[in-house]
Amino acid sequence: MSRPQAPRGTRDLLPAARAGFGHLESVARDLTARYGYQPIETPLFEQAEVFERGVGAVTDVVEKELFRVQAGRGDTERERWALRPEPTAGIVRAYVQHGMQTLPQPVKLTLTGPMFRYDRPQAGRYRQFWQFDVEAIGDAGPAIDAEIIELATRFYAEAGLTGVELRLNSIGDRACRPTYIEALRAYFTPLADDLPELERTRLATSPLRLLDSKDAQMQPLIAAAPIITDHLCDACAMHFAGLRRHLDAVGVAYRLEPRLVRGLDYYTRTTFEFYPPERDGQQDALGGGGRYDGLVELLGGKPTPGIGFGLGLDRVLLALERQGTPPIEAPRVAVVVVGADPADTVTRFRLATRLRAGGIAARAELGERKLGRQLEGAARDGAHLAVICGSELDDGQVQLRDLEAGTQRLVALDDLVREVERTQRQHRHGPDAQ
Ligand code: AMP
Repeated sequence: MSRPQAPRGTRDLLPAARAGFGHLESVARDLTARYGYQPIETPLFEQAEVFERGVGAVTDVVEKELFRVQAGRGDTERERWALRPEPTAGIVRAYVQHGMQTLPQPVKLTLTGPMFRYDRPQAGRYRQFWQFDVEAIGDAGPAIDAEIIELATRFYAEAGLTGVELRLNSIGDRACRPTYIEALRAYFTPLADDLPELERTRLATSPLRLLDSKDAQMQPLIAAAPIITDHLCDACAMHFAGLRRHLDAVGVAYRLEPRLVRGLDYYTRTTFEFYPPERDGQQDALGGGGRYDGLVELLGGKPTPGIGFGLGLDRVLLALERQGTPPIEAPRVAVVVVGADPADTVTRFRLATRLRAGGIAARAELGERKLGRQLEGAARDGAHLAVICGSELDDGQVQLRDLEAGTQRLVALDDLVREVERTQRQHRHGPDAQ
């Protein structure tokens, strides 16, 4: 076999990148705990129908990007699987399956993990990517809409990303969207002969999606099309005004974007997306979300309102790198155990084990190199301290060397963990720390 490669559209996260993700995950975990969201995990794959119904059969995600999985045996309905393209449908499926409508509402859930879309890979668009997702199910809003959006803006801020733009829209509900869709149809129908083929089909099946078109030829037509916010019913208009009042109250800035409809079918009323500064392309969107008041019912539950977002972590990392502030690197070992007798790996192993059992990040030199080489290795690791095993071992002692200060002292083996801890504390907080 020639050398195998990671599948197209996927990436190995090498330690520095994985540490970056880990940092974003911990920001997400900390923030959602503060806002009262509980972690949930759903399977990486579901019956394809969960997404076909939950995301919508005539959406890009289902039509073109669903990563279908062959079960290998038979092709009955139960064996039509797909890898999750987004988390909401699976979470709502779990909400219904586990009777969470009997819990105090809203049920506030969060999930961070990989998603899969079988799209053409390009910069910032992968077949396996990560999302940080938050859902509040069972609250009709609009205050919760504002709370969720504010949480997302705080996530970007605490992740260290500046200048993120929030774009906001309302796409109405079952009462007013049909009239708007008629207005759209009336506008686009006389232009049908000039539309690209795909858009002509969309005009027949799902006119709202014309606004989502990436085709350059469509852009001037979209710019002149009727806008949804002119067609909202009173209830939707009040909801939107309420949302904006709450956002204003906590100083969250936004840009109204009346053509923001998002690609998924299930959205009602509030929709929003986040973009990095001065970047506009579809593959630049950092995240997005919206209200999905019909979704629980679509997946077999009682009518229940809900709202959530999914933020793309790969793109947050790309944006942080572009900004010149990539997240912290993987932590290094603090202590390396070396020894004068190259062959005595047992003692070095034993002392490193004792340090690690005491909660200290330590590595033993397990190669049989000369002491000088072992110390060079410790310096290359960026270790702060070296424990040096030599003839003092006969008296139950080792040398503790501060590799940065270049000083060393004798320490009794029984005191080793305590002495290392004390030295590390002083190193972190200055010599006065106890
Ligand atoms: P969507 O539900 O399509 O708006 O996706 C939410 C967010 O996930 C987007 O704003 C992106 O940040 C991210 N995302 C979606 N698809 C991909 C992909 N193929 N590769 C990387 N990130 C993606």
